[in-house]
Amino acid sequence: MATTIASALFSSNSRLPAGRELQRRAFNPRASSSSISLKEDIVIVGAGIAGLATALSLHRLGVRSLVLEQGDSLRTGGTSLTLFKNGWRVLDAIGVGDELRNRFIEIEGLVMRSEDGRELRSFLFEEEAPGQEVRAVERRLLLETLSSRLPLNSILYSSRVRAIKKQGTGDTLLELEDGTEMLAKIVIGCDGIRSPVAKWMGFPEPKYVGHCAFRGLGLYPAGQPFKARVNYIYGNGLRAGLVPVSQTQVYWFICFNSPTPGPRVDDPSILKNQALELLRNWPSDLLDVLHNTPDDVVIKTPLVDRWLWPCFSPPAVANKVVVVGDAWHPMTPNLGQGACCALEDSVVLAGKLAAALKRGNDESVEAALRSFGEERWGRMFLLTARANLVGSLLQWDNPVVCGFRNNIVIPWFVRLAPFLEHTNFECEFLEPVAST
Ligand SMILES: Cc1cc2nc3c(=O)[nH]c(=O)nc-3n(C[C@H](O)[C@H](O)[C@H](O)COP(=O)(O)OP(=O)(O)OC[C@H]3O[C@@H](n4cnc5c(N)ncnc54)[C@H](O)[C@@H]3O)c2cc1C
Repeated sequence: MATTIASALFSSNSRLPAGRELQRRAFNPRASSSSISLKEDIVIVGAGIAGLATALSLHRLGVRSLVLEQGDSLRTGGTSLTLFKNGWRVLDAIGVGDELRNRFIEIEGLVMRSEDGRELRSFLFEEEAPGQEVRAVERRLLLETLSSRLPLNSILYSSRVRAIKKQGTGDTLLELEDGTEMLAKIVIGCDGIRSPVAKWMGFPEPKYVGHCAFRGLGLYPAGQPFKARVNYIYGNGLRAGLVPVSQTQVYWFICFNSPTPGPRVDDPSILKNQALELLRNWPSDLLDVLHNTPDDVVIKTPLVDRWLWPCFSPPAVANKVVVVGDAWHPMTPNLGQGACCALEDSVVLAGKLAAALKRGNDESVEAALRSFGEERWGRMFLLTARANLVGSLLQWDNPVVCGFRNNIVIPWFVRLAPFLEHTNFECEFLEPVAST
């Protein structure tokens, strides 16, 4: 492949000391001019889970990419994510599974309770869903681990893409917030739920589903007291959960009905009080986790999704621009699958793209991107719909219906194995090749 301006910039042999600040300074094309045109073969927009996992998958297959991130560093907020066995398959395939596994508790089962603390049902994964692997992972550490395996200067921070234009040559012009222009042969939009790349491709805005989530991370410096179980607690139009993350951290969430997303609140201490207010008289172990949560790690998120309707939704790919992860299929977190699916997307896309690039013609690349979209569409459509449906059922607020759910459906009819069937996903280990 032709040497690009950016890869020439990257070719410096001097390895810098650790630290994103230095990395950023090492590759700051805007240091001397506000509008330099750069050329890249593959540009990934967004250094979230999808972007970093795609960059790392490509890197292991010997393909270089440049990641543009709007923030001036990796996102450190976002508390934790529960990753199921499909997520772990991918993390293993890209060589970071064990490093992360060692830092987070393996969850052995789950307990369902009502808001008065009564246990409705409990499961052990090894009995009900053997082979399942569940761990809550701190998002910050996941991002840092993925980025630490990328070659130096793979991520260009403070680089917000504000406009996208197709060129006559078939390349794509990305215009950054500061006026820098970048020409890319292939653009991979990993820019999350409000993706400008998806918008440019004709996707509508994701839709608010009628409930919001509070999330936080309780800290127990002397050791947390919980068994390695996910706890789900169900009330009327309100539910909460807690998941041990490590020996000293416990992740919690609350989902509550709200006709609108409500005003944006930036003060986390107000958010924490609002969360506590919702849970008055709820089980004391849950409240204890909230009390042990530093204010600044409490976040509120209005939940949204976008269904990939056959015939109506644009395809994931248009002229060598492709969307991945939340940028393509934002889904509600009711199945804990958004990040897992973003990871799945990344290995599938990278595998197809790397094989096509070896063949070395535009048609192969276009076919590979199309094949990615076609292979993944059905699974993503169904999971997005299923997550939405599960959320609607769990957010019921009618006391009679909730009583029926808590006293009949959960104790007698819920089965774990079929519920977790969607976590079956296989992918091959991406054997690392010498870096490009
Ligand atoms: C309440 C809640 C709980 C969740 N729990 C789970 C869970 O337990 N398990 C699970 O698997 N998933 C969960 N998810 C879903 C998960 O968080 C997302 O699916 C996942 O973060 C998607 O990753 P992504 O990389 O596609 O997008 P993001 O993580 O949103 O990353 C997008 C990146 O793109 C950057 N960006 C955006 N716009 C631009 C631009 N114009 N230019 C440059 N960069 C840009 C952003 O700064 C960001 O770094 C949850 C979601 C929510 C809301």
